[in-house]
Amino acid sequence: MKYKNCIVTGGAGFIGSYVVERLVKEKCNVTVIDDLSAGDEKRIEHLKDKIEFIKADIRDKDMLQKTCSGKDTIFHFAADPDVKSSVLNPQNSFDINVHGTFLILEYMRRLDVPNIVFASSGGTLYGQVDIFPTPEDIQFRPISAYGASKAFTEVYLSAYTASYGMNAVTLRYANIFGPRSTHGVMFDFYHKLKKNPKKLEILGDGKQVKSYLYIEDCIDGSFFAAKKVEKGLDAFNIGSNSWTTVIEIADIIADELGLKNVKYAFTGGEAGWTGDVFKMLLSTEKIKKLGWTPKVSTEEGIRLYIRWLKENF
Ligand code: NAD
Repeated sequence: MKYKNCIVTGGAGFIGSYVVERLVKEKCNVTVIDDLSAGDEKRIEHLKDKIEFIKADIRDKDMLQKTCSGKDTIFHFAADPDVKSSVLNPQNSFDINVHGTFLILEYMRRLDVPNIVFASSGGTLYGQVDIFPTPEDIQFRPISAYGASKAFTEVYLSAYTASYGMNAVTLRYANIFGPRSTHGVMFDFYHKLKKNPKKLEILGDGKQVKSYLYIEDCIDGSFFAAKKVEKGLDAFNIGSNSWTTVIEIADIIADELGLKNVKYAFTGGEAGWTGDVFKMLLSTEKIKKLGWTPKVSTEEGIRLYIRWLKENF
């Protein structure tokens, strides 16, 4: 995929802000669309003279009509990414993730925008599977509305690439973490331990085991995959080669904070919450065969992230 005149939706979000940074580094023209519902302009403040920022909802049709014209690639990272709340309020992930992406595809079709890079999700898209590591060609069995919204979108990407000659890469992420992230298990544990260094509440039995990927590797892998797709649709797992339990994460964070004998209080049950995929390891064979592999180990990444949290919160 070749890109030069790009839109990044969700560019003021955690992962999107790094995508914007990378595109600026590659000398692309970048327009960010973000409604700042969960994003923060501070994440891309250092780039403000080099990009165009539009504060808007991706479902704003007039804005899409004006903004998509003349662009070659949309890096689509805007979403409601909260798995837990998608179970409580499934309408939101449908409206933003499914309908929002459908509108983007429609304006791409109408205005001849040829490429889309889509932030999908490995764990929640595949759902409860029994093949580990899980390859890209397994049948989707999402167990949350959020996972279903990513599956829905991927099926639309298939239809639009086949019917209208667009090119798409779907990046099926593991749990992405690192500086600028303000959600997820590590963020949660850091704040809980800051409040009470003696006791940590852990959702579930702590044995949930998943693959995590440090943000720098996530961005590297994403751009590597995007560059490999020349025509049509392709999907890549973007993850690490290892998995880590929630208890191991708690141990690393406690150690990084210099805490000893923290008492873990488990809420119980295999999953942390309804919709939580408690076992997830993505196969990285496909992208590895093409020549990409992550560089930062999960433990090293967690320590780097905790140091950033200490400086910023
Ligand atoms: P994030 O919440 O930090 O970023 C999402 C951004 O989208 C925010 O800046 C938010 O303001 C914006 N946004 C939300 N709804 C919008 C709307 N209707 N119109 C315009 N902007 C809107 O989340 P993130 O962790 O950076 O995730 C980015 C993408 O990657 C999402 O699509 C998410 O589903 C996907 N993803 C993330 C992870 C992860 O571990 N972080 C894993 C798998 C997939």
